[in-house]
Amino acid sequence: MSYLQLHHIAKSYSLGNKERVPVLHDITVGFERGEFVSILGESGSGKSTLMNIIGGMDQDYTGDVMIDGGTLRQKKEKQLDDYRKLKIGFIFQNFNLISHLSVLDNVTLTMQMTDVPRLERIAKAKQILTDLGLSEHLHKRPSQLSGGQKQRVAIARALSNDPDIILADEPTGALDKKNSTQIMHILDDIAKQGKLVIAVTHSQSVADYSTRVITMEDGKIVQEDIKKRSLPV
Ligand code: ADP
Ligand code: MG
Repeated sequence: MSYLQLHHIAKSYSLGNKERVPVLHDITVGFERGEFVSILGESGSGKSTLMNIIGGMDQDYTGDVMIDGGTLRQKKEKQLDDYRKLKIGFIFQNFNLISHLSVLDNVTLTMQMTDVPRLERIAKAKQILTDLGLSEHLHKRPSQLSGGQKQRVAIARALSNDPDIILADEPTGALDKKNSTQIMHILDDIAKQGKLVIAVTHSQSVADYSTRVITMEDGKIVQEDIKKRSLPV
């Protein structure tokens, strides 16, 4: 079985009245660590809905998300919290940085939820930010950065608890081509280091940077391309 396995996932949203609108249909797919997977699909095809289910943010679905030999469904609230906090790093289109905090504090903030001592947190955050080329910007506010720099801060934050899985929902959606390319290369490097990276996009050219492209249409997987790179063992 794959490291992360989706097994017959289906979901519908209810519209207040009794009507339910189906948005995901029978999604069965597996993912391995070291993969950089793009989920490609038009707006409304169910990509974000699927990411929220994988990320443990949405529990209103049928089917199973299996990881580490168990399902998310079996996890108690505290375990699910740890899963969201420690196993998964989230990256969003609009960065979701906290505007009144410095770059450094944006990264250490998420680490405060774990039991890493304060000085160690700061040192680790500085190291991750430096690796991403942001050492000159540690004490700036997000508003003083370019879009590409903001997304690198968000990536640093997502890496801060050393998660196994990175979920990026349209990470290049607000960026120009040059910055998009840079972000996709960074995500590729993260996967090469052995994490599972899943990035949502509606752009074929962005998807082409990944090791595998899964195409979604109307809540279904319609195509799966296995791409070039062999995976680390
Ligand atoms: P994508 O991320 O691919 O653009 P989404 O997963 O956001 O697609 O949405 C899939 C479908 O579900 C769309 O038709 C959208 O309108 C609908 N949808 C998303 N969120 C909700 C919600 N909270 N309530 C009702 N319908 C929703
Ligand atoms: Mg979306």
